[in-house]
Order: sequence, then C-alpha cells, then structure tokens
Amino acid sequence: MFKFEGKKTIIALFPFLILFLAWMLAMGTLVSYNKLNVIFITLPYILAFFALVLCVWFQHSRVFYAVAVLLFTMSVISSKNGLNQKALVNGISLLIPVGFIMLAVMEERGITSKNGLIKGIVFIFLTFFILIDAGTVNPALAGLKQTHLAFRIMEDKGIPGLSIFLFIVCLCVLLARFLILSSMMDIAFTGAALCSFIILHFAGYPDVLSIFFSAVFLIFIIALFEASYSLAFHDTLTGVLSRRAMEQEILRLGNKYTVAMVDIDHFKRVNDTYGHQIGDDVLKMIASLINKNIQSGKVFRYGGEEFAIIFPRRSPDEVIDQLDMLRINIEKRPFIIRGKDRPKKKPKRIISRRKGEGSINVTVSIGVAEKTEKMRSAAEVIEEADRALYKAKKNGRNCIVY
Ligand code: GH3
Ligand code: MG
Ligand code: MG
Repeated sequence: MFKFEGKKTIIALFPFLILFLAWMLAMGTLVSYNKLNVIFITLPYILAFFALVLCVWFQHSRVFYAVAVLLFTMSVISSKNGLNQKALVNGISLLIPVGFIMLAVMEERGITSKNGLIKGIVFIFLTFFILIDAGTVNPALAGLKQTHLAFRIMEDKGIPGLSIFLFIVCLCVLLARFLILSSMMDIAFTGAALCSFIILHFAGYPDVLSIFFSAVFLIFIIALFEASYSLAFHDTLTGVLSRRAMEQEILRLGNKYTVAMVDIDHFKRVNDTYGHQIGDDVLKMIASLINKNIQSGKVFRYGGEEFAIIFPRRSPDEVIDQLDMLRINIEKRPFIIRGKDRPKKKPKRIISRRKGEGSINVTVSIGVAEKTEKMRSAAEVIEEADRALYKAKKNGRNCIVY
C-alpha cells in the first residue's frame, strides 16, 4: 500500500512534474514565432531546477550553491534591469571563482546543516553586495581594471584582470583536489568554472548564454548522479567496491572465473585490544594492500572484515601466486600505531610486539573456489569459497585453501 511520506510522495509526483514542464515547453513552441528559441531560452532554467532538486535530494550543498549562483547570474546577466551591467559582470566574475574556491575547501555536510547554512549566508551577502553596488550611480565594481590578456568579444566587454587571476587560482585548486582525492566532482567543477568564464565573456549574446548555461547545469546533473552512484557502489571506510557492486558484477560473469574470500584472522582481538578506531585503520590498510597486490581481480568488501576478490576468466592456478604474495605481504607489514592513537588504558593483551610496542601484526586466511560445470550460480561458487576459508581457519589460519 502506498503511504503518504515526504520523500516518497515527491518521487511519485516527479514524472508528472516533468510532464508538466514538457507540456509548458511544447505550448511555448506552439505559440511562439521562433519555436527553437523558446526551447533555447527555457532549457537552462529546467536543467537548473532539476539540478537543484537533485542537490536537495542528495543533500549536496557544494553543487547547490554553485547552481544557485549560476542561476542568479543567468537571471541578471542579460536582462534589462536598470543595473549597471558592467559592474554586474565584473562582480559576478569575482563571485564565481571565489565561491568555487570556498566550496572546494569547505567541508561537505549537507545543505541544512550549520556548515551548509554558513555557505548560504556568505553567498547571499556577496550577491547583495554586487546588486547594491550595481544599483548605485558610480559602482565601484565597474571601475575594475581590464587586462589585455583576456580576449574581448566587444568593445568594453570582457572581465577584469583580477577575475582572470582568481579563475586561474580556482582551476589550480580544483585540479589539485582532483589529483589528490581523485574525486570526479572536482573535474565537474573544473568544467563548470571554464564554462562560467566563457559565459562572462559572452554576456551580450542570449542564445550563446543559453547553450553554455545548459551545458554547465548538465555537467552538475551528471556529476551528482556519478557521486550518488559511486556512494552506493563503494565502501565508504575502505574505498573498495561494496557488496552491492559485487551483486551487480556477479550478473555479468561468464562461465569461467575464480572467487577468493579473504578474512582477517582474530580481528575481534584487534578491536578489543586497541579500540574500534584502530580496527578501522587496520581494515583500511588491509584493503589498500589487497588493491596493491591483486592485478587481475576486482576487490569487494563482502562484509565486516571479509573481502571478496573476483577473477574473471581465471582459474585458481593462475591467481594463487598473487594471493600468496598478498598473504605474505600482509603478514610482513606491521600497522604502526602513532602517538595519538595509542590506547589510554593499558591493553589487556598485546597481539604482537615483534616490530616494537606501537605496532600490530595481522594475518589473513584465504578460501578459493572456481566456477565449475556442477555449480549453477555465482552464489554457489561464493559458498564453496567460504567453505574453503573455513578450512583455512581450521588449518591454523594465515594460509590459503582451495
Ligand atoms: P577469525 O580469525 O575466526 O576470523 O576471528 P575474528 O575475530 O576475525 O572473527 P569474528 O567474526 O569473530 O569477528 C570479526 C570482528 O570484526 C567482529 C567485529 O567487531 C569486527 N568488525 C567487523 N566490521 C568492522 C569494522 O567495520 N570496523 C571494525 N573496527 N571492526 C569490524
Ligand atoms: Mg576474521
Ligand atoms: Mg569474518
């Protein structure tokens, strides 16, 4: 039975809302002299609206405020509003790079959090400042110095040298973030910053503006979908693929593949002795070691302290060497406890003191199974690998069974 709940009701209404917008658009083209023009002018507003809905949905404050600023730009940049256009364009050309830098360095905590509201207040304050300045007789922003570096489309158009400098800083920050965090959202913001730069140069051409505004909103919509997809298919603690991703992967497997289940030995003791936080850090280290040592397989966090590796088109003989290398490398690699992580209370039991007091040594047991004619589904192969893992535990742990 359908129950009326906030989010669910909105989802249920969404197709009709889109249909309504399409209807309005179609009506516009019927009555309009220039049919294409109506679509051109309305499209960016529809895309912006769609992007804002997604931002609220996913509680993504960074994209929310970027889209809001661009929406503001779109509504004031080429309309007849009695404001000084040059001051407006100059002000916005400062606001966008500064805003994008601020959004890149501030933490993402959703729109309705304190952090999200602070971002909103800063943007509203800056926007008001630009509007008030553009409304005065002698706007300060109109007097900013133009640079010869910027290509100018029309006489007296183009953006100030300071803005170009800020855009370059903004691009550097975004690219650095992308290289360090490898987050696709920063690449989307890089594209959006370049798009905004072009928009500000074409402030006098409404058709060109529509195309580039549509492009920038589309970039954000795709980035939002990518971010939510990535969130669902990656484990947030270790960064490896999630169990959900594994369920999808299984559907695509052919008739030949090998599955390995990797389970950390006596992991409960690590938690009991050093605390859950250090347990989490050890898990991250193991995940990164698995990623480094496995070349031909896909790594998933199957659950808790258990990882699954799927090797498509491989037999156990072809993967056993890399698995054994992995096992040895985990055994040899101590987890070093830094000063601030040391437990305050004296631990009841120390797992290993071999590599010094502040280190933990863990081992893994691995169970391997291959898809055979007898097995009808991937679930059976996983079960078989789990049975092998159980045997490895019984054999004294820190070994591979298949
Ligand atoms: P065995 O060698 O038989 O595998 O022993 P074990 O202690 O590793 O196995 P057991 O299944 O008894 O315990 C697994 C532990 O892993 C229990 C749970 O507290 C811990 N664990 C599961 N997920 C996480 C996690 O995300 N973070 C931390 N810190 N611990 C976790
Ligand atoms: Mg275990
Ligand atoms: Mg386990």
